[in-house]
Amino acid sequence: MKSLLLLCLSIFSFSATGQNLLPLYNPQKVSEHVYVIHGPTETPNEKNRGFMNNPAFIIGEHSVVVVDPGSSDETGQMVLDAIKQVTDKPVSHIFNTHIHGDHWLGNEIIKRAYPNVVIIADPRMLKKAQAGEAQSWQALLKKLTKGATKNTKIALPNKLLSDGDSIQIDNLKFNIVSVGVAHSDSDIMIVLLNDSLMFTGDNVAYKRIVRLDDGSFRDNIKACDKAISMNLKNYVPGHGPTGDVSIVKAQRDYLNILYTEVKKYYDEGLSDFEMKPKILPSLSAYKDWPGFDHEVGKHISLAVLEAEKAEFE
Ligand SMILES: [Zn+2]
Repeated sequence: MKSLLLLCLSIFSFSATGQNLLPLYNPQKVSEHVYVIHGPTETPNEKNRGFMNNPAFIIGEHSVVVVDPGSSDETGQMVLDAIKQVTDKPVSHIFNTHIHGDHWLGNEIIKRAYPNVVIIADPRMLKKAQAGEAQSWQALLKKLTKGATKNTKIALPNKLLSDGDSIQIDNLKFNIVSVGVAHSDSDIMIVLLNDSLMFTGDNVAYKRIVRLDDGSFRDNIKACDKAISMNLKNYVPGHGPTGDVSIVKAQRDYLNILYTEVKKYYDEGLSDFEMKPKILPSLSAYKDWPGFDHEVGKHISLAVLEAEKAEFE
């Protein structure tokens, strides 16, 4: 009843400027400790105000851990508002799964509310952010949303963890898994042992095709295989609905079919635009996923470049 009342009172999330702009998306409880706000499976635009990922929060005994608070001050505020619907406990930690700004530009507004918050990411993520990618993402989102994210400021990670590391926060036990370049050469997957649950970042998206401009098909496939081999109960993808291991298999199969087909036609001497019509039928299971029309041609070109590079390894 309490949560229903609160829900009615806060239909909109409030930005730092006090305007109510971003609709409040309902947090969904997916396991004992974990709530996920499943964002729209779209690209950032004026209407969604840049919100498109799956921010999550984990309720510990004394504090709350956030994963990927979205693309802006407004998404970060929405996460804070969603947490308040469930608990009064403070946010102590934030995990950022990778460098792409739609996942972590919500950090700063949370840090403003909780100045001592520990922000955790892979060392490669921090390095890329400091080398200018933080500002590039800030500018790109502002442009794509026609200024909706203009008040968004940057708060970078202040604790670095990588593959094989573990961390206990409160009563919550986390393991960090990372496999090569994967989706963005900065990715971590976060396993919450308490709930047999993995946050995959964009190594896995479900019912949504994601960009792979700075990734690797072969490493992303390996990352999926690693996630599958752990055989956990729940997987929270970077975009799209949470589910069991079948969502990871769907992502692995998309990448695997695409790369295997590209490699076959590359070996036959075909160029990317010649092989595209031959490959598309084998990817028909994915053709209705948002982003397919926009990304698949680019994915084929990127896979050709990767197959070419692989010749020299
Ligand atoms: Zn990404």
